[in-house]
Amino acid sequence: MKVDILGVKIDDLNMDKAVKKVVQYTMSEKKYKIYTPNPEFVMTANEDEEFKSILNKGDLVIPDGIGIVIASKIMKKSITERVAGYDLLQNVFNEIKGTDKTVYFFGAAKGVASQAAERMKEVHEGLNIIGIHDGYFDEQEEKTIIETINSLKPDILLVGLGAPKQEKWINQNIDNLNIKVAIGVGGSFDGMAG
Ligand code: UDP
Repeated sequence: MKVDILGVKIDDLNMDKAVKKVVQYTMSEKKYKIYTPNPEFVMTANEDEEFKSILNKGDLVIPDGIGIVIASKIMKKSITERVAGYDLLQNVFNEIKGTDKTVYFFGAAKGVASQAAERMKEVHEGLNIIGIHDGYFDEQEEKTIIETINSLKPDILLVGLGAPKQEKWINQNIDNLNIKVAIGVGGSFDGMAG
């Protein structure tokens, strides 16, 4: 069920259900967009209609910030619990490690995503991270990044360019991407890199 927080429709679900959905999405023929709004997203969305409409077209829009849960309770439209994007990724990695499911890390400053990938492969032995690119690029490099992603065909593409850039990038490019699931991950690579 979706709960409307100042015009942004957020899914009311718990961590367990969110993890199951992401894993299911990787087995589907359709492509899925996952966003992880916190209260800052909601504020930005209220000044940026394009961002709001992109968030509202997300297949899974998880309540990343505790502020979202609190706002929902004040508005008497209670969201059950916070599902932190970072924790969701850790749980998904745990589910897909040792399987044929693959992940691509795209975003953050030079060297950060590769360090994040190294750490995640240590923590989740058998996790298939098949490609990495930092989040600073010009138009020409962007074309190459998309071509590389499409040749690798990752099941899950993590996009960490900060909001609203990452959501706009996903929305603009998903039709041309050879992937199953795209997730906007904000500063998660910085966290994973340690
Ligand atoms: N970033 C990027 N390219 C850009 C702008 C930002 O890769 O053009 C990265 C930045 O290095 C950081 C992340 O995007 O890793 C933004 O993190 P932040 O915590 O600000 O994002 P939020 O979680 O608030 O969306």
